[in-house]
Amino acid sequence: MPNYEAVMGLEVHAQLKTNTKMFCGCPTSFGEPPNTQVCPVCLGLPGSLPVVNAQAFEFALKAALALHCEIVGFTKFDRKNYYYPDLPKNYQISQFDLPFCKNGYLDINVDGAVKRIGITRIHMEEDAGKLVHSDHGGGSGVDLNRAGTPLLEIVSEPDLRTPAEARAYMEAVAHILEFLGICDCNMQEGSLRCDANVSVRPIGQTTLNTRREIKNMNSFRYVEQAIEIEIGEQIGLYESGGTVRQETRLFNGDTGVIRTMRTKEDAQDYRYFPEPDLPPIVITEAMINEIKNKLDELPEARKQRYINELKLSDYDAKVLTDFKPMGDFFEAVLKEGVAPKFASNWITADLQGILKEHKQTIDTCGLEPKAVAELIQLVEKDKKINRAAAKETVFPKMLETKKSALEIATVENLLIVADTGATEKIVEDVIEKFPKLVADFVGGKDAVLNAIFGKCMGEFKGKGDPAVIRPMLEKKLLALREKK
Ligand SMILES: [Zn+2]
Repeated sequence: MPNYEAVMGLEVHAQLKTNTKMFCGCPTSFGEPPNTQVCPVCLGLPGSLPVVNAQAFEFALKAALALHCEIVGFTKFDRKNYYYPDLPKNYQISQFDLPFCKNGYLDINVDGAVKRIGITRIHMEEDAGKLVHSDHGGGSGVDLNRAGTPLLEIVSEPDLRTPAEARAYMEAVAHILEFLGICDCNMQEGSLRCDANVSVRPIGQTTLNTRREIKNMNSFRYVEQAIEIEIGEQIGLYESGGTVRQETRLFNGDTGVIRTMRTKEDAQDYRYFPEPDLPPIVITEAMINEIKNKLDELPEARKQRYINELKLSDYDAKVLTDFKPMGDFFEAVLKEGVAPKFASNWITADLQGILKEHKQTIDTCGLEPKAVAELIQLVEKDKKINRAAAKETVFPKMLETKKSALEIATVENLLIVADTGATEKIVEDVIEKFPKLVADFVGGKDAVLNAIFGKCMGEFKGKGDPAVIRPMLEKKLLALREKK
C-alpha cells in the first residue's frame, strides 16, 4: 500500500480475575455446567439490586495506574440498553460519560523501536452470557454463567499504524494485566478479547476516513491477520472508486474471511442513562495511594532492574520478564543465595531446554525453587556435580522423581571424586592404557591432549571435575615430554 496509511485503535476487553461477579456473589469459574452460576442479580430478575465488587474495583485501579492513566475523582455507572438473548436485563451495566480513568499510555516495541500508544480511557462493565448453538435439537441455548463477569474495556487512541503494531500493543496490554495478576489472559477461554477500529487514508491526509470495526478477536495472530486483510479490502474499495461505510464486522480465523455483521449504530442508539441502582463512586487520593503501595513491579521495571542491578544481559533480562512465572522462579532461586548470573544461565538456558523436551514450564513442573537452587549450587559453587551430568541425568530425574539433586547424584554415583589421590590414580591408569596417544603427545603433537583428556573423562564416568583433571593430566604429560 504505497500511497495509503492505516489508522487503528483497539478496544481490549479483559475479564478480571475476581472470585465473584461484578455486581453479585456468583462465582466466575470457567467451564461449569450451563446456568449453574447465576442468581437473581445476574439473571436480571425484577427487584434484585447490584452491589459493586470491591476486588474488581481495586483491580481496575491497578490497571489504570500501570497504564499511566489519570484516575478521576468521581465516577458512575450507566446502563447501555440493547436487546440480545444473552443479555437478560436488556441492558449492560457499563460506564459512559464518566469512566473511572482516562488519558494514559503504553509504550510498545516493534522491531527494536519504541512507540507510545495513547490510551483514551478505561472503563468497568459486566460481561454478557453466551449463546450455545449445538446440542439443542437444532435450536440455540443460552448459558448465563458468564453474565455479570467483571470486564475492563481499555480503549486506545487511533495511534496504531500497522498490523504488527496492533499485535504488539495487544500483547503488551496482556503482559501488564498478567503481571498485575488481575486477568489470566486466557484467550481461548475468552478472558481477553479485542475489537479493532480500522480506517485507511492517503498518505499526507490528516483527517480520518470512515472506519470499520472488527469485533471480538481472541488471539494475537487473528488481530494481526484480520487487520491486514481489512486494510487490503478498504484500499481495494478506494482504488476501485468506491467508499467505505461504517459497519461492524466479524473475522473468521479458520477461513480468513471478514464478513459484515451489521451497519454501525451510533452510540446514542444504545440510549445510555445513569444506573439508578448504583450510587456514584468518589475515588480519593488515599484510595489511590493504597493501591499504589500494593502495585507489583511491572515488566519493564523488572527488566531494567535485572540489567542494571543484577548485571544480566539484555537478552537474559528479556527472557526472564517475558514470562512472569519464570522471573518469579528466578527471584526465588536468588533468595536461596545463588548468584544472579548462575541462576539466570541455568533457568533461561539449561533448565528451559530440558523442560521444553518434557513439555513442561517452570511454574507447572512441580519443582521448588529451593531444589533447583541446590542443584545449581552443587554444580557452580561446590563443584560436586559436573555440568553435563547435572543436565543429562540429575535434572531430568529431579523432574521425574522430585528427589533432591544430592540424593540423585549420590544414588547415580555422580558425585565428583574429591579425593585427589584417587583422581591421580585414574589419570595415571589412562596414561598407561593409551601408550600410542601418549607417545604422539610426547613426540610434539599438542592436539592429542584433547583425545587423552576425553579418555580420562570417560574413565570418570561423569563424576570427574574437568577443572582438576585437565591440568593434572597436562602436567603429567608435559613431564613425560621433558624426560624424553
Ligand atoms: Zn449472580
